[in-house]
Amino acid sequence: MRCAVYPGSFDPITNGHMDIVYRASPIFDELILAISNNPGKKQLFAIDERISFAKQLTKDIPNVRVESFDKLLVDYVSERGVNVVVRGLRAVTDFEMEFQMALINKKLRPQIETVFLVTNAEYSFLSSSIIKEVASFGGDVSDLVSPKVAEGLKRKFGGGSGA
Ligand code: ADP
Repeated sequence: MRCAVYPGSFDPITNGHMDIVYRASPIFDELILAISNNPGKKQLFAIDERISFAKQLTKDIPNVRVESFDKLLVDYVSERGVNVVVRGLRAVTDFEMEFQMALINKKLRPQIETVFLVTNAEYSFLSSSIIKEVASFGGDVSDLVSPKVAEGLKRKFGGGSGA
């Protein structure tokens, strides 16, 4: 079985994340979308909400499973018996951080390979942070996230977004 883990905060999951899921899932027998549950990192959406958004969006992709993890990525990945981590690359700005993470993960567990999928140009500007920023000022993000996520953002910021 060729299995891969696509890890991230997914706070919240965007159409850019889903584009990576749609493109990575046919490459592997199983793709685990792994949502980091790091209590030290301030998140807008609680882990249960982030899981629920991701599950709803991936329910029709049979080889995608949603899980959360609260430990070092390499430990979680190894426990699952997986050797491949999928990440998305948007711009040069992502590269430095992703490069550093891939190398530290390789140092910790040499058998783990990080595979990068380059963003679809359509989503290259899209990040969870920009979504939160726009939504916090009542901007319309309904083309960039799922209806459930847009609803969640409205709930958090009280109106505006997705209207
Ligand atoms: P993290 O907090 O670990 O960076 P994110 O949820 O922000 O987690 O992102 C998870 C992964 O998805 C990262 O590799 C990120 O570069 C990638 N990603 C996020 N948005 C996009 C996008 N619009 N296009 C391609 N990849 C993306």
